[in-house]
Amino acid sequence: MNAPALTCNGVTKVFESLSGPIEALASIDLTVAADEFVCVIGPSGCGKSTLLRIIGGITTQTSGTITFGRTVEPARPRTAMVFQDHGLFPWMDVLDNIAFALESRGVPKLVRRAGAMQLVERIGLEQFVSSFPHQLSGGMRQRVGIARALLADPQLLLMDEPFGALDAQTKLVMQEELLATWESQRREVLYVTHDLTEALRLGDRIVVLSGRPATVVADLPIVRRRPRSQGFGLEPDLEVLRNEVWSLLEAEARRHAQR
Ligand code: ADP
Ligand code: MG
Repeated sequence: MNAPALTCNGVTKVFESLSGPIEALASIDLTVAADEFVCVIGPSGCGKSTLLRIIGGITTQTSGTITFGRTVEPARPRTAMVFQDHGLFPWMDVLDNIAFALESRGVPKLVRRAGAMQLVERIGLEQFVSSFPHQLSGGMRQRVGIARALLADPQLLLMDEPFGALDAQTKLVMQEELLATWESQRREVLYVTHDLTEALRLGDRIVVLSGRPATVVADLPIVRRRPRSQGFGLEPDLEVLRNEVWSLLEAEARRHAQR
């Protein structure tokens, strides 16, 4: 059998703070198979972003190992991150914000801009290539952030509540677009959310984390036909899964409230 694309083994994280150590991740075991879309859900503040940042190499774990394929870090494949606050530069227009993905790789400017232009067309913002972030709606800004991540052509896409700040309708449209893009060009996605319906709509698997310090309390397959990009509803059998995950999350929330 092929090794998973990503394996987290006993990953822990303790932050040092003035008031003492903060244990964010207790011991995380997690795999992502090749081309798999895995959603991670857990109460807010449990350590989801911390986990993603460790996998993306932005910060380091306190103990445990991260393995890409058969190679233990630091030999990581290309990863790209998409955050809730899109991380665009206010002084760059749409085209340059997207093209920035290739800047650190020494790709010549003309080539960068040509690549960015193709993505601008794919996300339907041709009329806004020269606009600046403050001239765009929240949904458009997030599209630009995703286009930037896609231009980097990552093997592993790390998404941290990317649509969390959008209104409900825009969120649905963006989910559809993300699914359509991913289904036409598969890669590994690790997608953090606290929105259960979103996780069920997007993922092949759902990993449920406990409250802080996070551990994996469930790892459940989402068996559903693909492509899924048409239609907004969930199939009836997914309601069973939704109830199962919901009771886990509710139990975590209650356990936490009593501490
Ligand atoms: P989530 O993304 O699930 O909401 P985070 O991963 O952002 O949670 O944070 C988990 C916990 O770690 C929180 O209690 C947060 O306050 C703490 N934390 C995160 N980053 C730092 C840091 N740089 N220094 C100290 N504590 C941190
Ligand atoms: Mg977070």
